[in-house]
Amino acid sequence: MSATIIDGRQVSGRLRKEVAREVADLVERDGQPPGLATILVGDDPASAIYVANKRKACAEVAIADHHRHLPADASQAAVASVIEECNADPEISGILLQLPVPRGLDGASLTALIAPEKDVDGLTPVSAGRLVQGTPGLRPCTPLGVIELLDVYEVPLEGAEAVVVGRSNLVGKPLAALLLERNATTTVCHSRTRGLEQVCARADVLVAAAGVPRLLGAAHIKPGAAVIDVGMNRTEEGLRGDVDFDAAIGRAGFISPVPGGVGPMTIAMLLRNTVLAAQLQRARGQRAVESAR
Ligand code: NAP
Repeated sequence: MSATIIDGRQVSGRLRKEVAREVADLVERDGQPPGLATILVGDDPASAIYVANKRKACAEVAIADHHRHLPADASQAAVASVIEECNADPEISGILLQLPVPRGLDGASLTALIAPEKDVDGLTPVSAGRLVQGTPGLRPCTPLGVIELLDVYEVPLEGAEAVVVGRSNLVGKPLAALLLERNATTTVCHSRTRGLEQVCARADVLVAAAGVPRLLGAAHIKPGAAVIDVGMNRTEEGLRGDVDFDAAIGRAGFISPVPGGVGPMTIAMLLRNTVLAAQLQRARGQRAVESAR
């Protein structure tokens, strides 16, 4: 048996085209595109590349770029005041504070200042609370990308045994909440899980988000399972996931490669969240106008 390879590049390409159409609709209707404010503090090379990629992706779908770059020695109050300005700016639909911020700044407190309706990364405490409570809100991009891939490849989630390896606020926990929302029976594993192999081998849907190259091999995979590899590890052999791809391909039903699986989905979901945020803000603005009449 050879697994179906989940093609994140193809799925994300389709999503970006859909987003471009929705942006064009918003411009036609309101005369104004959605806008994304990427906030970069300092000059960390990896963060600069991530932000540049996000801005480029926005430009390709005609989302307006409201990038802000602050020096590495910017104070907490200076970054906070940029976030507050972006919260108040009606041309900005979404705000993304690139993490990690330089030492001396408190990234979590700064993230918490982002207005929930503009929280396109879905990482503020309000967005996290809404996700756990199952109320409407913006959801984190990488977990959304994982669910989108599973849906496009028609992997059933309802009643399925889902195992997520990793419990970060960025990936593991929100993904577990999304899987639970879709009625999967969801288990979350972490560095102190006992019998990782046996727990993973129960999974119909196995998601690796640990950041440990080749953590999961054939013995962790139930034959026919859908395996999604979120890991992005720079190794001597190049970019590798958390799953031993060569071992998984002969055992899984579906497998997402690294690169070319979840990675391209994250930016696509950021674009989609930015459009969604703009649509919600404009609908709310319209309702406020109508109720004032
Ligand atoms: P993180 O904050 O470092 O969290 C890693 C999680 O994995 C922790 O919960 C940790 O457990 C668990 N873990 C570590 N070693 C383990 C082991 N041996 N067995 C079981 N669990 C173990 O990382 P993250 O931000 O969630 O990212 C995870 C991976 O996804 C990284 O490779 C990252 O680069 C990648 N990523 C990719 C994308 C994308 O767009 N493709 C986006 C975000 C992240 P403890 O909680 O017990 O420490």
